Amino acid sequence: MAPLDEYRRKRNFRRTGEPRGRRGRSSSQGPRFVVQKHDASRLHYDFRLEVDGVLKSWAVPKGPSADPGQKRLAVPTEDHPFDYRSFEGVIPEDEYGGGTVIVWDDGTYRNLTDEGKRPLGEAIERGHVSVWLEGEKLRGGWSLSRIRRGAKEAWLLVKQRDEHAGAARLLDDEPRSVRTGRTVEEVAAAEAR
Ligand code: MN
Repeated sequence: MAPLDEYRRKRNFRRTGEPRGRRGRSSSQGPRFVVQKHDASRLHYDFRLEVDGVLKSWAVPKGPSADPGQKRLAVPTEDHPFDYRSFEGVIPEDEYGGGTVIVWDDGTYRNLTDEGKRPLGEAIERGHVSVWLEGEKLRGGWSLSRIRRGAKEAWLLVKQRDEHAGAARLLDDEPRSVRTGRTVEEVAAAEAR
């Protein structure tokens, strides 16, 4: 199966404004990460890392926490196209993932897994990822570890202990898009007009 087959199979591109998708890599500063806030049937945050031209993705129901003591469940979802990282808008209610999406954080990352010697695609297959994020909101070391395999595969997203760790109320304090400065409510209201 090609990397984006599942992504495309789930969506009707005549109905949704999400990108049909291409592979790519735009940045000379390093690979990209993005966190999208997605107000769907259940509010969650989608954590995505650029790996081999696509965005490896996890849905994080409670969103990331800067507190290393707060482990956050992260459920893997299908690879998303690279250009999804700038998608913001409303997915029609009866379509897959129906709801409102904003770009909650965006930036570059460095692979720290096994001192950066383990390629990230391989790290994901093995079930442990360590990255240094340089976003506008998320910074420092973060780890993703698989805790369950199979149909109910589950991972944990955890902040590592470093100078960027803190107990800050990241999600409530920083609700806006880093791309357009809007909240999910503002994006939903704008598209409803
Ligand atoms: Mn989502």
